[in-house]
Amino acid sequence: MNINPDLATKTRDAHERLNELYGIQAVRGYPDPMHELIGTILSHRTTHANEVIAYRTMRERFPTWEQVRDAPLRDLIDAIQTANYPEIKAPYIQNLLIHLFRETGAANIDFLGDLSTEAAMNWLTALPGIGFKTATILLLFTFHKPVLPVDTHVHRVTQRLGLIGPKVSAEKAHTLLLAYLPKDTLILFNFHKHFYWHGQRICTWYDPKCTDCVLQSMCDFYHAGRMTLLSSTPVRKKRALDS
Ligand code: SF4
Repeated sequence: MNINPDLATKTRDAHERLNELYGIQAVRGYPDPMHELIGTILSHRTTHANEVIAYRTMRERFPTWEQVRDAPLRDLIDAIQTANYPEIKAPYIQNLLIHLFRETGAANIDFLGDLSTEAAMNWLTALPGIGFKTATILLLFTFHKPVLPVDTHVHRVTQRLGLIGPKVSAEKAHTLLLAYLPKDTLILFNFHKHFYWHGQRICTWYDPKCTDCVLQSMCDFYHAGRMTLLSSTPVRKKRALDS
């Protein structure tokens, strides 16, 4: 891939400014990969509090993964009902577990830690219901692989800054931004966290607080009069997972 040196420099400058604003965070470790794998499915378009309730209720009613896999679908839907779209997520979870037991003989993905980043990505994204975003979240947060989850906040802020083009998808953004940054887990973890927080708190979708923003002087969207149409426009009624 041809790397634009100006965009690489701008990406690193923006990252430095947010490092100063939010402070460098240690990479958090999540000790239970299966919890994170199923949790990421439950978390789609759901608050963290409701995701936690759904996961806890599911594990209380079905304490083993075999029981989750074999539960009557309506009972599993009921157990995870605090997560949005439980009628879609429950079959996703059961199909995933069926696949895992068939392929590995157990509901256990610890072996991903021993694979290369590319091999782990390929293995995860071949699972039913697991897309690019879920795979990068799992690999960065649980296995500390050098990948960069591009969620809606990271996507929007990097587009507004002009680090990626207005029509670049989140998956393509992952490749582009990775090319501009060192393949270092601590750096990528902080890039993700800081752009996520900035999108939540300052560069919000409907009313970005540009006058309070440390990135204003380098922001294409601001200098264009906040008129650019972005591909990160929210699609409120879309139901597919991992979007
Ligand atoms: S200047 Fe405005 S649009 Fe640009 S990154 Fe900051 S808040 Fe977002």
